[in-house]
This record gives sequence, C-alpha cells and structure tokens, in this order.
Amino acid sequence: MSAQIGVTGLAVMGANLARNLARNGYTVALHNRSVEKTDALLEKHGGEGDFIRTESLQELVDSLEKPRRVLIMVKAGAPVDSVIEQLEPLLEAGDIIIDAGNSHYEDTRRREAALAEKNLHFVGVGVSGGEEGALLGPSIMPGGSRESYDSLGPMLEKISAKYNGEACCRWIGTDGAGHFVKMVHNGIEYADMQVIGEAYDVLRTAAGIEPADQAKIFTEWNTGTLSSFLIEITAEVLAHTDDRTGKPFVDVVVDSAGQKGTGRWTVVSALELGSPTSGIAESVFARGLSSQRGQRELAQGILEGHEGTVELPEGFVEDVRLALYASKLVSYAQGIDMLTAAATEYGWDLKLDEIASLWRAGCIIRAELLDDIMKAYAGDARPANLLLAPAFAESIAGAVPAWRRVVATAVQLGIPVPVFSSSLAYYDGLRRKRLPAALTQGLRDLFGAHTYNRVDAEGTFHTLWGEDRSEVEAVDTH
Ligand code: NAP
Repeated sequence: MSAQIGVTGLAVMGANLARNLARNGYTVALHNRSVEKTDALLEKHGGEGDFIRTESLQELVDSLEKPRRVLIMVKAGAPVDSVIEQLEPLLEAGDIIIDAGNSHYEDTRRREAALAEKNLHFVGVGVSGGEEGALLGPSIMPGGSRESYDSLGPMLEKISAKYNGEACCRWIGTDGAGHFVKMVHNGIEYADMQVIGEAYDVLRTAAGIEPADQAKIFTEWNTGTLSSFLIEITAEVLAHTDDRTGKPFVDVVVDSAGQKGTGRWTVVSALELGSPTSGIAESVFARGLSSQRGQRELAQGILEGHEGTVELPEGFVEDVRLALYASKLVSYAQGIDMLTAAATEYGWDLKLDEIASLWRAGCIIRAELLDDIMKAYAGDARPANLLLAPAFAESIAGAVPAWRRVVATAVQLGIPVPVFSSSLAYYDGLRRKRLPAALTQGLRDLFGAHTYNRVDAEGTFHTLWGEDRSEVEAVDTH
C-alpha cells in the first residue's frame, strides 16, 4: 500500500490534519521527529482511516506515491528549514513539499525559490480554524505554483470547510501568497476581537450592563449583520460564570492579552507596503498596552482621568452595535487594501472575491459579512476600497451618527476605544476633501527641502525658505 500524502509533525495541528485527510479517504503516511506522537495518534485514532506508520523521513518518502506530497506541520521558523533540508535529498523532481504551519510569507518566498531551483514544488499553505478546524474542515489558503495546485488542490478542497457546499479552499497565488493572505486574515482577527472588546467595555462601563446581560445582547447581535463565529463565542464567554468564585468568568481573567506574532507581522508588512492598516495596528498595540501591567498599575495611582459625565442617548446599545459594525467594516477594508498593495508589490493576481469566499467558513473570522464582501468584489466593477462598494458605502454611512456618539461618549468617560476611534478617523480621512498633509509637505520642504506639488500647476516645487521665499521648480524628491 502506498500513501497519497505524508504528514510530518504530529502535534495537535498535524495530527488533526492527518486524521482529516484519512477520514476523507486518503491513505496518509505518518511521521514525527519523536515516534511517540506517531504511536499515540495510531493508538487513539488509527481506526479512522488508512495510515502508514513510519519512523524516519526516508521511510515516509518511500511510502508515498509519485509525485510525492509531504506536508510539514512542525513548529514555525527554523524547524521548518531543518525538515526541508532533511527531506530535499530524499525527493525527486516534481515532488511537492507543503508547509501548512504559520510561517512568515517571506520565509515561504525564500524556500519556494530555493526549492524551485531543484525542481521541487514548495507550497506554503495558510490554514485557519484552530485545532477543531484542522480536524473537521479548516479554511485553506494555498500558495505555490499553479501546477502543484493541480495535484494538491483536490485533496485540500476535500478536507476544507464548506460554505453552502462550496469548498473554502482556492489557489491564492504564487510563492508566499497563501501565507500572506493567512497573515492578513489573522490581522483582521485581531481587529475583530478588539472591536468586540471595545463594545463590551463601553456597554459595561458607560451603560452598566453586566456580562450575563451582555451575553444576551451579543446573542441577539449574532442574528443580524454582525453574525459571526467571534460574536457567537463572545456571548458564550460572557455568559460563563466562574466555578470557584461565582463571579462572571471575564472578571477573574487577568486583563493582559497574549499574542503569537501574526498580528505584529501584519502590521510590519502594512508599514512596509505603505498601507494604512490602522485598525489592525491599534489592535496589536492594545494587546501590547494590556500586557504592560507594571506601568498600568503605577499609572492608576498617578494619572488623572478628569472624566466627564454623559447622558446616554436613547438606543445606546444599538449605537454600540453600529459602532462595532462600522469599525469592523473598516478593519476588513484596510486588510483588503493591504492585499491589493501586496498583489502589486509581489506580482500576485489575488482574487479578492475568492479570498473573501474562503473565509466564509472554517476560519476564525467567518462571518455573514464575508458573503457580501465576496459579492462586492465579484464581476468587473471592483471597488477601489471596500467602503466604496455601493452596499457598504450605504450601510457604513447609516452607522456614522451612532459611531460618532459612541466614540464621543467613550472619550468623555475615559474608556479607551482605539479601534472604534481610529477607524472613524480613517473613514473621515478617506472622505475628507483636504487633509493637513499639505501642511506636513510645507514643513518637510522648509526643514529638508523635500519639495511639494501645487494644486494649480504641474511639476515639483521648492520654496527658498532661508532666502527670499520665492518658489523654484525642483527635482521631485518625495
Ligand atoms: P507546535 O507546537 O508548533 O510544534 C510541535 C511539532 O513540531 C512537534 O511535532 C515537534 O516534534 C515538531 N518539531 C519541533 N521542532 C522540530 C525540529 N527541529 N525538527 C522536526 N520537528 C520539530 O505544533 P502545533 O501547535 O501543532 O502547530 C504546528 C504549526 O501549526 C505551527 O506553525 C503553528 O503556528 C501552526 N498552528 C496553526 C494553528 C491554526 O489555527 N492554523 C493553530 C495552532 C498552530 P516533536 O514531537 O519531536 O517535538
């Protein structure tokens, strides 16, 4: 018996992907650096499908049908390079190495280029959905060559999540495109969670609504335009009571949020691409601030808030829902804008409608909204920005009065709402006729002779600030 795919790295994610493949009828060869994990998987779940046990990478490679497909699911970073280095001499031209871990897309680009020189395909695959998704059907974002997808795609599509029967797996684009899109997905996930947190904080602090009652509100919100996995599980967490103390669970959890790094990668990449991804950036910074517990404790005793009082407007809960919706939409718009910038930078033909379509199920940001986003990018009339798609321009405009009221209320009461407020600033910045960037250009020209363009003439200019302040034509050094 030969296997159609081999999986090396059988910690929770690799084991669950291997089981998912086997449950879908594929024969899967199993390998792990230490054989205990292989045996543990076989002992517990060996009956779920056809597995081949191997103890070495040589054995794993020998057990595979050609062209061979070896899926690596080891710790991201140096371990991936180490496994590739060991695998490469064992493989033949046309074989496919798949990295389904959370690798940085630049690493994937480097690995793909190096292996292509040896006529091996290297496919970086973004996988979202956590442990459960890996087992039951994740959202899958494969990069690498189109040719490799012809061989690998059907398997990945079969094990992926399904939305109305459609596989949440599409070929994204060459080299690191899959891992890039997965990274941006995770960035949006950070922003999505932060705006939920801000809504919770405003409802609790400004409106005095306790977690158990908020759970009911979030459950209600989950039936409308906000309907999504994250809103659903927010209701679940807020409804949970701590066994030990009888308090709301959310009150016994230390308020400093961890991160594994994909949000940070998204922001670094956004900065490099010059893409204004402020919502995701503020979400990452908010986690950073939450983790500075020492400084926060000192600040509580030193820094005055001078909070004002606010009479909450009628329908404040609905206002918060609209502020959450609008801020969330901005984060998606910014993430998609970043994808567009990356497509130009890296020469990827990213199909935004397809990307939105495969985030509709299996992944953490799965939401009803994504179906509408998909529709906004389908066809030829692609909006320059998600917010400019007619349906979204209308729905966000409808949310603006409430959004402003919520941000103003939060600011008056000293409740930090970094993503609500920065998203509103982005919205206003995008639609404003004149920005103070004109003054910035003036300052740059004065101190650094960086030049400027005029609103009423072609060309690039410089004012002789240190002389008679006359204007001269200049070489463009923007
Ligand atoms: P992990 O804890 O990241 O890694 C453990 C696995 O890596 C073990 O199989 C371990 O082998 C192997 N390993 C570590 N160093 C190695 C080396 N130098 N050579 C060979 N094998 C090595 O496992 P995980 O949590 O299952 O995650 C796997 C990947 O999926 C990671 O990239 C992670 O970021 C990603 N991930 C994705 C999601 C998602 O939702 N998409 C969720 C979690 C994780 P031993 O047993 O021999 O130590």
